[in-house]
Amino acid sequence: SLVYLNGDFVALEEARISPLDRGFTFGDGVYEVIPVYNRRVFRLKEHLERLENSLKLIYMRNPLPVEEWKRILDRLVTENAGDDQSIYLQVTRGVSPRDHVFNDEMQATVFIMTKPLEQPDNSAGSAAIVRPDIRWQWCHIKAITLLPSVLLRHEASLSGAREAILVNQGLVTEGAASNVFICESGKVLTPPKSRQLLPGITRDLVIELLQQNGIECSEYPVPETQLRSADEIWITSSTQEIVPITVLDGEMVGSGQPGPLWQHAARIYRDFKQEFSQH
Ligand code: PMP
Repeated sequence: SLVYLNGDFVALEEARISPLDRGFTFGDGVYEVIPVYNRRVFRLKEHLERLENSLKLIYMRNPLPVEEWKRILDRLVTENAGDDQSIYLQVTRGVSPRDHVFNDEMQATVFIMTKPLEQPDNSAGSAAIVRPDIRWQWCHIKAITLLPSVLLRHEASLSGAREAILVNQGLVTEGAASNVFICESGKVLTPPKSRQLLPGITRDLVIELLQQNGIECSEYPVPETQLRSADEIWITSSTQEIVPITVLDGEMVGSGQPGPLWQHAARIYRDFKQEFSQH
């Protein structure tokens, strides 16, 4: 497939990066994952704004103007296989001698690839485990430094679960690679934005769509005890969409089946996507 690397469009097999790239030596960079439906980039403005914010928080300038990002993404999405794709883009602080200290002269490395995206079928429900949030204090940055998340997802997969839902000081933060919603007495709750969680693009969209459709949804701290007694649990992310969690640490969530609010939310989300991809 065709990828973009520092100004060039090349085959993935041809792309080369120095071992002194700070992404490799320090995990010093940020990224985005953006879904594409019918060759149209979904929630592009929101993803580019979050990228801008991640860069600012790690003291980097955005290496490309918005119009250039759009032009590059359009070309990749047009030339690569699949009407539906997922874009992975990463910006690192570039190549430098291995020294923690950085300066403004460093030339960012920009790498972008896409792959075909299968529409998820979430109707069966999935399992999750609950784990202490062992990540750092700045989880609102979409940093490429993902070792804790990799280990947490490994633990989840060893337990036959899809996701690890994380708890920090008694409160649910998010999943290792997703945001978390719970349902209780017909209402939907999700933890408020803070430095302890990534402001998910899907999270924002789900809140907006639920409210537009008359389903009560609020941002409110969720203690672990409330997670464990919830009627429904969902996790959200751009490529997985809305996933009903039907088993938590081996125990049934509610009836053990995807719940009625999930059914409703999934329908609303599907219709919104469909509307988007037809325009
Ligand atoms: N939280 C974390 C830690 C994530 O890595 C992700 C994305 N994989 C999300 C939440 C969901 O974000 P989005 O809806 O923007 O994909």
